[in-house]
Amino acid sequence: MNLDLDQRLSAAYKSPSQKARVLTENWVEREIYCPNCGLSLRQFPNSRPVADFFCLSCREEFELKSKKDKIGDKVVDGAYETMLERLKDLNNPNFFFLNYSITSWAVVNFLVIPKHFFTADIIEMRKPLSPEARRSHWVGCNILLRSIPEAGKIYFIRDHQVSPKDKVSAEWRRTLFLRESSRSESRGWTLTVMKCIDRLDKKDFLLDDVYKFEEELKRAYPGNKHIKDKIRQQLQILRDKGYLEFIGRGKYRLTPLEHKEENAR
Ligand SMILES: [Zn+2]
Repeated sequence: MNLDLDQRLSAAYKSPSQKARVLTENWVEREIYCPNCGLSLRQFPNSRPVADFFCLSCREEFELKSKKDKIGDKVVDGAYETMLERLKDLNNPNFFFLNYSITSWAVVNFLVIPKHFFTADIIEMRKPLSPEARRSHWVGCNILLRSIPEAGKIYFIRDHQVSPKDKVSAEWRRTLFLRESSRSESRGWTLTVMKCIDRLDKKDFLLDDVYKFEEELKRAYPGNKHIKDKIRQQLQILRDKGYLEFIGRGKYRLTPLEHKEENAR
């Protein structure tokens, strides 16, 4: 994979944001493969409002967001209401995030966030534009990267290092089960428990470790009186879907990715 942006292409453009768009879109089409099936991607015509790329083979769609310098923990996206509407029936595209350096004009980080990781609580409403603005009172949104479980950030390139293609595909396959519940409310609980497990920051953990988040989850879900039941139910879903293994006596283990690949062979 060649990480260099082709600077010759931007000569005709004046504004820095247009230059960046041309260079990064060209790079994605040239170097990035579909994480779902491994084949190449094509760009949509510019007029299309939602996604930027699609896979010729499996029809997955991707929206590209690019940023210079560093990733940060939120990314500006389009209209807030439109976004929430699309999330309701998993109608949003997957999200590519590209981070480049303007000293070397090369890609530093590139990741995909699968669409099933998008729920209302990672979408932040931005301040409405002022009445004097061209699009007065228009309300945009931010995508909160920090609120997405680690399993939802699949890196093709991390700090200039390119990940093997089979690792990217294995990471993609690992969470596809989340698409089975198209309603974002039920996915929301699974994602919440995945985030709690991330925060434990260990491969093996106990049911009691996850119960320690009970108070916090009570505040997040004030309507739910049975948080512990909910935690157990979600751990069971994650186990049934191969994300976790149950190793007895209230002990769980995150399924290693290599192990899953061996099983797939
Ligand atoms: Zn594909």
